[in-house]
Amino acid sequence: MSPVLHGGLLADPARELVIQADLGISGGRIGGVPSDDAEKVDVSGCVVMPGNVCAHHHLYSSLARGMPGPSRAPRNFVEILELIWWRLDRALDAESIRLSALLGAVEAACAGTTSITDHHASPSVIDGSLDLVADAVQEAGLRAVVCYEVTDRHGEEGGRAGIAENARFLRTNQRPLVRGMAGAHASFTIGPATLDALVGAARDLGAPLHIHLAEDGCDQQDSLERYGERVVHRLIRAGALGEGDLVAHGVHLDDSEIDGLVTSGAWVAHNPRSNMNNGVGGARASDMGERVALGTDGLDGDMFAEARACYLKRRESDLNAGPEWAQRLLSTGAGLVASVFGEPALGSLEAGAPADLIVLDPHLPTPLSDANMAGHLLFGMNASHVRDVMVAGRWIVRDRRHLLIDEASLAARCRVAAPELWGRIADGSGLGAPKL
Ligand SMILES: [Zn+2]
Repeated sequence: MSPVLHGGLLADPARELVIQADLGISGGRIGGVPSDDAEKVDVSGCVVMPGNVCAHHHLYSSLARGMPGPSRAPRNFVEILELIWWRLDRALDAESIRLSALLGAVEAACAGTTSITDHHASPSVIDGSLDLVADAVQEAGLRAVVCYEVTDRHGEEGGRAGIAENARFLRTNQRPLVRGMAGAHASFTIGPATLDALVGAARDLGAPLHIHLAEDGCDQQDSLERYGERVVHRLIRAGALGEGDLVAHGVHLDDSEIDGLVTSGAWVAHNPRSNMNNGVGGARASDMGERVALGTDGLDGDMFAEARACYLKRRESDLNAGPEWAQRLLSTGAGLVASVFGEPALGSLEAGAPADLIVLDPHLPTPLSDANMAGHLLFGMNASHVRDVMVAGRWIVRDRRHLLIDEASLAARCRVAAPELWGRIADGSGLGAPKL
């Protein structure tokens, strides 16, 4: 398939470029010489952009929407984990893992997200769980980077099982649009033996780490009490924070840690909506250098909404911040995925880049140019404008309909599976309570 997108406005935030031009796709990449019988796709009046990237997602949470709340309101972040998310992840079985991932991936695609960096947990079904997630994302046609979140919260045996699952996936995965990382929950649930084993396995396999970092003050408190040092310094000493690794949140970091983080060359996933939802505070994302991308932390796959919240959250206390800052964070996720896939041009519309793109029909009421792209992205465009989505040269959404998955039938299956999952949470099925 070598389509030509005809008559659109090409907007490439990474290159700060907006031009009126046709765009050919050939061999899954931008450019090339379209064949005479190339499909001509009318995108006149539309904006063609690189697809969005979610740098930190938890697809396993997709069936939590509308879930009955816990018996009492959580009073802090650890209780949010204990009363909600650690109960949900223990109740996941193979079918609910698969359905959650499929639903989250389809919804992300329809919102204009073409790549997801996922962080998976299902302590009752560890072995093989990354294949379930990867197969679902592949079925939905997206590009993804998956990992299993290693933790000692079910003992070191559970930690070893998580490391084994990451290693198994990294060794065996052959999917062209899926890669792996070595996942870790957070410093406060990982003891020294498990952390050392995880870092050793990741480095042996050449895989970056993906870990929650100081999302709440509890992570710092635990590290100071148990190891006598702050979290970033613990991770650096353990070899767990280096070039290409990915940390999520970084809310509770002091200046020395931010310096260490920036110097390390690690990527940071900033999740402002999740941080607000969990009441953990605001990350100093603007102090963290050039490798800060945006994630949703499992809320959804809508990066337009995340970018807008990111901008508004900063504007609340910093009127010097312009929309270009949030636009840059939105674009930076592509750099993360580009580095994992070894595709430096991913996330742009330049010739030779993987054809991961979206077509929006915002019916532009004001002129769009390279000078005001950020304003349109932050105040105009949103997920409802996403008409078509292409990943690696294949259309996966056309005219707002997912081409590979019947969304109505998926929703019907989820409406059956979700109450069953919630029921397992309520009756305490699965593993026992975490050992913390
Ligand atoms: Zn997370």
